Amino acid sequence: MTQSSGSIAVVGAGPSGFYAVDALSRARPDARIDIIDRLPTPFGLARYGVAPDHQGTKGVTRQFDRLLAKPGVRFIGGVALGRDISLPELRNLYDAVMIATGCGRDRRLGIPGEHLDGVMGSMRFVDWFNAHPDAVDLTETIAQARHVAVIGNGNVAIDVARVFAKTAEEMAKSDIDPRAQAAIVAMRLETVSLYGRRGPAEASFTINELNEMGRLARAVALVDAADVANVAAPDSDPTPERLRKQKNIEALRGFSSNVPHAKPVGLAFRFHRAPLTLSGENGRVVGINFAGGSYTPADLVITCIGYDTILPDDLPADKGRVANDEGRVAGLPGVYVVGWARRGPSGTIPTNRADSFAVAERLVTDLAPSSRPGPAGLDALLASRGVATIDTAGWQRIDKAESDAGAREGRPRVKLTSWAALRAAANPA
Ligand code: NAP
Repeated sequence: MTQSSGSIAVVGAGPSGFYAVDALSRARPDARIDIIDRLPTPFGLARYGVAPDHQGTKGVTRQFDRLLAKPGVRFIGGVALGRDISLPELRNLYDAVMIATGCGRDRRLGIPGEHLDGVMGSMRFVDWFNAHPDAVDLTETIAQARHVAVIGNGNVAIDVARVFAKTAEEMAKSDIDPRAQAAIVAMRLETVSLYGRRGPAEASFTINELNEMGRLARAVALVDAADVANVAAPDSDPTPERLRKQKNIEALRGFSSNVPHAKPVGLAFRFHRAPLTLSGENGRVVGINFAGGSYTPADLVITCIGYDTILPDDLPADKGRVANDEGRVAGLPGVYVVGWARRGPSGTIPTNRADSFAVAERLVTDLAPSSRPGPAGLDALLASRGVATIDTAGWQRIDKAESDAGAREGRPRVKLTSWAALRAAANPA
């Protein structure tokens, strides 16, 4: 490996960061590439966002793991941009910097009552059941809930509703946090309702996810027949989008003939319900008032209405994303952005592959290798600051500990749930 082959820092070890590493390491096999993350573990949304019962989707991490075995590619966990190192410092150390930090917080409804106990954004709930080390324990919050309201008509809303609705048996092959699973099973759940502010044709569900809602053991999917009568995808839509909507409408129409109370939990899709205010009693949510005057009781409200980017250190903003021209960050030569930090929170994991590949190609075209210190400079700077990092071998030790714990229970893995446990597994004394 020569000094002249170039050094690249990728910030954010989620799917878009790893797809960038994939493209960069193919185009410049001799480049030194560090993929840096705030967390002790790689894979971002694939580890902590994708639902624990969708192990097929998580399978992409095996491909990312193989990238970490490539010469010149390093994982450096436990390093936060803006806390442990600044963007100007990274630019001094590396020939190019790729930002792949995704979206870090829930969008808010911005309506009265959102502060009530029992109301939360999906990220809070998903972090908990996915055993994120920063997650807040929600056992007490969900314990008394019987009527769960899920706001939003996207695939995150489906994930959230499904995790509530599935039985322990249906989750047995998942890597859900066992404590979250126990708390969900202990609920006296009666209804899980998904509220869309528009109609069935406007829902952004995809058909496999929607169909799965019709096959759950203890929950029956329900739709008001009036909501799906005379509804069709507009002819003006491009064909794939029209077909997606048409399939959704047909699936929902099928649910409209299901019998309420046929199973213990009602899983209701409700449309044309835009939340106006949330009502509370003694500080706890009790219901939702919708535009038009309708009201529904709800003792747990999870908003699944999208995410915002937390703009890392010194990066220019544009409508909640990093300002960029096809991935080149505005006003910062040598700095690039990919994934949700670039485009906003839309698209599935494979969508990010094409995006990251295209931006990586631009980076490689621009790359002017120099005598910047690259990885050795990063190591020296972090050591001087006493930052305790987790490297690829450390991640592999975490992975083994979790996989071994999973094997004992017939699960893919049982995640370590705290920073201390993750650090201890990565760097045993
Ligand atoms: P999404 O598909 O954009 O859905 C967001 C939903 O929130 C929309 O129904 C939107 O309604 C609604 N919404 C936004 N603001 C609202 C408000 N103020 N009041 C009421 N409703 C509001 O986003 P997502 O579900 O967060 O998913 C993000 C991306 O990840 C998507 O591309 C999704 O497909 C992907 N994903 C994929 C999977 C999978 O493949 N299994 C799983 C999870 C996520 P409007 O349409 O009216 O704006």
